[in-house]
Amino acid sequence: MESEHHVIIVGAGVAGIASALALKDAGLSPLVLDRADQVASSWRSRYDSLRLNTWRRFSHLPGRHYPKGTGTFPSRDQIVEHIERHAGEDGVELRLGTSVERIDRSGGGWAVHTAAGELRAPQVIVATGVDQAPVVPDWPGRETFEGRLIHSSDYRNPAPFSGSRVLVVGAGSSGMEIAHELAMSGAAKVWLAVRTPPNLLLRQGPGPVPGDLIATWLWSLPTGMADRIARFGARMDFGDLSEYGLPPAETGVFTAVRAEGKVPAIVDAEVVEAIKERRIEVVPALVALDASGVELSGGARIEPEAVICATGYRRGLEPLVGHLDVLGERGMPKALAPEAAAPGLRFAGFLFRPGALGFMGKLARRTAKAIARELRDRPSAERVPLSNPNRPAMSRRPSS
Ligand SMILES: Cc1cc2nc3c(=O)[nH]c(=O)nc-3n(C[C@H](O)[C@H](O)[C@H](O)COP(=O)(O)OP(=O)(O)OC[C@H]3O[C@@H](n4cnc5c(N)ncnc54)[C@H](O)[C@@H]3O)c2cc1C
Repeated sequence: MESEHHVIIVGAGVAGIASALALKDAGLSPLVLDRADQVASSWRSRYDSLRLNTWRRFSHLPGRHYPKGTGTFPSRDQIVEHIERHAGEDGVELRLGTSVERIDRSGGGWAVHTAAGELRAPQVIVATGVDQAPVVPDWPGRETFEGRLIHSSDYRNPAPFSGSRVLVVGAGSSGMEIAHELAMSGAAKVWLAVRTPPNLLLRQGPGPVPGDLIATWLWSLPTGMADRIARFGARMDFGDLSEYGLPPAETGVFTAVRAEGKVPAIVDAEVVEAIKERRIEVVPALVALDASGVELSGGARIEPEAVICATGYRRGLEPLVGHLDVLGERGMPKALAPEAAAPGLRFAGFLFRPGALGFMGKLARRTAKAIARELRDRPSAERVPLSNPNRPAMSRRPSS
């Protein structure tokens, strides 16, 4: 089945909707597919108290700002509302409840195989996100544990854990924030298991300055210099946390992001205060479970009633595009939009950098430009007419 769209976009999160908006602003007609029944599904399923750890001005769709009155760090529901509102703009066609199973070359373009049949278009953008498949390590004895064991993506709020002893595994932003919320909301005991001490950055500060404003500036400096400044800043903000089980990270913040795609833990000052007050006890890495407890690296044993694994995600791109030689290390795309990974095939999102959400909007505009150019330069027999022939490609776009 040939689609009448210039571009099929897989994924209706920030990257997918930003791409669709930039394309329609450029006079092209995008079709957005998502396996969920609503847009922004990744955000909808995140925990109730989640706020962005990136500033609202660095986290909006291209040329579309958050409404007046939105806080410095939009809440989960505000980002869902933002995506939903703009996904509803004229010129963005959505086909929800449509899971994409595989993408193949087809003639000069691409065939997108969905559970409901095949769609074809000259251009495809994959925007399925970095957080598609939750990862829970296959620890020895995992299946014998008689307590509750969940991934952080299934955590909503602290209510079910009131009065319980809880072990949170993983000291990224989510793990630290969940541990803090549990500790402040009636859990009997909260441990935080840390394998590799994280780089810590303050969500806000000094004063009212959003942390990612500073991080974005540091991102533009030579990496070693940025690491040294960030390390000094963390020391000023948090002090030496070695006696609480959190010695300084071995790899600098920016080296870790650039070389390993490893993002720092972005936290509020209260989270670190709770660690200093021993409301959250930092313990070594979890190495094994049994029916009633867990063994930690170094041999200690603790007996939590629940284990929450903030142990990250896989990209889950292999079934879709693994056969196309477009994936590299850690299952990440070899090339990110606006660059094409294969002629007419691009990956949007998949970014590890400060202000990632807003930067996706900037890249979306460059991508729309590149796609408009490629479609214009195709032999006329292969050319799909523009959705609105009176409006030339790239003729209109709102200012950011
Ligand atoms: C708890 C948490 C908090 C975060 N906070 C921030 C933050 O504050 N700031 C920030 O910049 N980043 C944050 N991130 C990172 C964030 O996930 C990404 O920046 C952002 O969500 C990526 O947007 P995306 O559009 O690329 O992916 P997503 O928002 O994940 O959207 C991908 C979409 O693709 C769909 N999809 C996937 N596979 C298929 C398929 N096969 N067929 C059809 N549809 C499919 C999914 O249903 C989903 O709707 C956070 C991540 C987590 C886990």
